[in-house]
Amino acid sequence: MATSKLKFLVVKAHPHDFTHCAGTLGIHTSLGDEVTLVTVTGGAFIHNEELEDELRKPKEEQNLDIINQAADNYEEQKASELRDAASIFGITDIRILSGNEPFKKSENRDIIEQLAEIVLEIRPDVLITQSPYINDTGPHGLTSASDIDDHVQTAYAVADALYLAASPRPGSKVPPHRIPPQAQFYPGVYFNRRDWDFSVDITDWFEQRVEAENMFKSQGHYEAFSRKRIEIAAGAAGWATGTGYAEGFVRATAELLPKISLSEYTVRAATESPLETHKRMVGE
Ligand SMILES: [Zn+2]
Repeated sequence: MATSKLKFLVVKAHPHDFTHCAGTLGIHTSLGDEVTLVTVTGGAFIHNEELEDELRKPKEEQNLDIINQAADNYEEQKASELRDAASIFGITDIRILSGNEPFKKSENRDIIEQLAEIVLEIRPDVLITQSPYINDTGPHGLTSASDIDDHVQTAYAVADALYLAASPRPGSKVPPHRIPPQAQFYPGVYFNRRDWDFSVDITDWFEQRVEAENMFKSQGHYEAFSRKRIEIAAGAAGWATGTGYAEGFVRATAELLPKISLSEYTVRAATESPLETHKRMVGE
């Protein structure tokens, strides 16, 4: 019953957000699976570290090219960084929607409609999107009442779009499409590691993750920073699971399985000696 090739729909708030699961997507495109990558905004109002840097300088030292850069130019730069970074992982179907920023579900009804149209067009098997849960945002386990997080608002918009796409529309000739909750995943970066359901071994994609990180010049990224970030972030995920580098995921709901089965990695963990594990983790 399982289809051999999967269609992935990835919906994120901003261009850089896809990188958190990029290694996993690279694995899938190289297996022949299809990936459509959507950002609900162009990211014009976030992570403009270059601009912040200039604004902090005394007026006479400011680079006017950066100070006077129009939001459109910054967005175009981000779009081209996204296309370059995504192509490293074999992703060419990229849709950058023009949601208002800060992104709020309630102010972007048109984006919800566009997302629903994309779901009906692509008819994806798998969805990877922003987490609708706010993790550790306040002291004493309290969650924030703020609604200005683009990522969480994107998750809410996606939920609405999935509802629309799954409902037969009067007058429409297009059959509804449903992505079951069991096929919906959130990148682990939005959660504590102990809450992850699984992680994907991206050891063979480490250099590509560094390269992609380095492409987001608009966000102030450069080689040493990019390498450090991926070494720490994907490295810590790998360390926790006995491999070089990994990307964690949380499922939207528990999966229904025909039986318990073990992955080849789990079987290996039972037979490998600790020294063999250490050597494998550092690529020896
Ligand atoms: Zn973001």
